[in-house]
Amino acid sequence: MREKQKIDMTGDTRFIYMDNAATTPARKEVVEAILPFFSDNFGNPSSLYDFAKISGEAVGRARAQVASAIGAQPEEIYFTSGGTEADNWAIKGAAFANKEKGNHIITSQVEHHAVLHTTEWLEKQGFEVTYLPVDRYGMVNPEDVRAAITERTILVTIMTANNEVGTIMPVAEIGRIAREKGVLFHTDAVQAAGHIPIDVEEMNVDMLSISGHKFGGPKGTGALYIKKEREIDPLMHGGAQEKHSRAGTENVPGIVGIGKALELSFAEMERESKRISGLRDKLIQGLLDIPKTHLNGHPQVRLPNNVNVVFEYIEGEAILLMLNRRGIYASTGSACSSKSLDPSHVLTACGVPQEIIHGSLRLTLGQDTTEDDIEYVVENVRGVVQKLRNMSPLTTPELRE
Ligand code: PLP
Repeated sequence: MREKQKIDMTGDTRFIYMDNAATTPARKEVVEAILPFFSDNFGNPSSLYDFAKISGEAVGRARAQVASAIGAQPEEIYFTSGGTEADNWAIKGAAFANKEKGNHIITSQVEHHAVLHTTEWLEKQGFEVTYLPVDRYGMVNPEDVRAAITERTILVTIMTANNEVGTIMPVAEIGRIAREKGVLFHTDAVQAAGHIPIDVEEMNVDMLSISGHKFGGPKGTGALYIKKEREIDPLMHGGAQEKHSRAGTENVPGIVGIGKALELSFAEMERESKRISGLRDKLIQGLLDIPKTHLNGHPQVRLPNNVNVVFEYIEGEAILLMLNRRGIYASTGSACSSKSLDPSHVLTACGVPQEIIHGSLRLTLGQDTTEDDIEYVVENVRGVVQKLRNMSPLTTPELRE
């Protein structure tokens, strides 16, 4: 189906998916592993008869797969319905469990809305939140975290890597500071897990969120790591699943899928991240050769699959629509904010000037990306940018062709 989708101007058939930060296709091996749990092995893991134990054992195997990929113990992994639930649970759960100790939370201005809208909601419940600024690459300074901690601080939540600009945060250092001060530390590792090494011990984290559909697993699957002996309030109330911490009959197929996908990504990470970052650098170079184009995010300390650039004088939405016609699928800002015309909060926090902020394009590479795709994308983006600049009244004469 994918192959048939698009025909570019030269009659060439293409499907170049470069929006892997929004979601990834579920891997073939993952789909195969999942399928029996919809029908043949449909038992409820909470039931006592033998046949339901197959489901329970599969959930246990997935828990071990996730734990081993992030340096945790299986009993520290709790399955959720995705990254959003994991973030909500970690932040609200830690806030309410510690409200006697204090009411202050520290986060950054560049977090995903799953974190920012949660902390904004907590502000309405009487919590105080500090939103730390970032440097021009989107990076939080650990010393800013130290300076913001007060005796009322109960939680620090800073993402492992940014979903828009790909910058990887100094999480281990931030975690060390939080631990030194006796403050819980949560990190949203949704864009990082399956792509860069994650080790909860080395990162000094108490809680860490992941999402299955960002690394070849199914949508609607996620997990929260909670360090042993750390107590947070439940988000979902009901049955006794997940050690009474996350109620609701387990999504067994989804859990099998996230476990398998993370195991595969972890096994291939070294080779795949070398390959993808090579392609990423080629793509960045090709795009920066287009005049008046700037890279967003850190030039080196960035996710292996993330490219984010801004083109002066044009709108990201217009670029997207024209690329779509050429069989190239990308995004401007994050997937959620790409439906709104508000400038990206991440690029705003990085200090990208307002007059060019709407000209951003995010291309996130994946397992299917090839060298040939990079050449095709560079050539087509160059053509589209030139076409749009020729039409724009703002374009300076020397940029017209
Ligand atoms: N956190 C980050 C950094 C993300 O990029 C996303 C999704 O784009 C989420 C959280 C939400 O994850 P999910 O789609 O699994 O709810």
